[in-house]
Amino acid sequence: MDRYELLIATRNPGKIEELREAFAILPLRLRTLNEFGNISEVLEVGATYEENATLKAIGYSRQTGITALADDSGLEVDALQGGPGVLSARFRGNNLLDAERTQSLLATLQDVGPPRRTARFVCCMVLYGPVPSSHRMSERKVLAVTQGVCSGSLAMKPKGTEGFGFDPIFIPEGYNVPFASLDPAIKRKISHRARAAALMRQRMEQQFTSNLTAGRTAS
Ligand code: IMP
Repeated sequence: MDRYELLIATRNPGKIEELREAFAILPLRLRTLNEFGNISEVLEVGATYEENATLKAIGYSRQTGITALADDSGLEVDALQGGPGVLSARFRGNNLLDAERTQSLLATLQDVGPPRRTARFVCCMVLYGPVPSSHRMSERKVLAVTQGVCSGSLAMKPKGTEGFGFDPIFIPEGYNVPFASLDPAIKRKISHRARAAALMRQRMEQQFTSNLTAGRTAS
């Protein structure tokens, strides 16, 4: 079977690895932003995960000319009424290191005891490209939107070195240590991104696999 091109609209090596695994059984040639020159960054100025993922999928598909898959995610803490949520990457400022941001979240929650430290990671994925059944190759639209959630709780202090972001304090349901202390293979199976990607894979299998050819770049 032909291999169709799909842009994974990220430069994050961890995400690229996770998505390569999730889509391994599809007849796709996965490309990443690192393979294209002169790409301007699409800013995440939306108010929701879906808006940001849509902005990125459309922006990067237009710049590269191929079907694009983008995601946006965040950590929702119940004691913070769902915050930082869509603002997770900028929690307490743009220029913090992951470890500083995590410490700052721990400090914010210092008076919140274990039963109330529940939280979840949420990921929204958006696929944008040529409309499969359209005879007009130029007709592009959002082809699928999926969401994945990984519920858990927040540790009192960081532990572990795997992963990124809030992984050293996020303990997924069913485990007693944070993602950063677990085998990365476990995170690749149960994370919010893995769940959104599994649903996206089903959508692509059902509807688009045989038609993604319309999104191929001429080469
Ligand atoms: P992004 O939209 O996937 O880049 O995620 C936005 C922010 O949410 C990141 O900068 C992290 O702070 C947090 N986040 C999202 N996914 C994860 C994860 O899998 N582990 C740890 N933190 C994450």
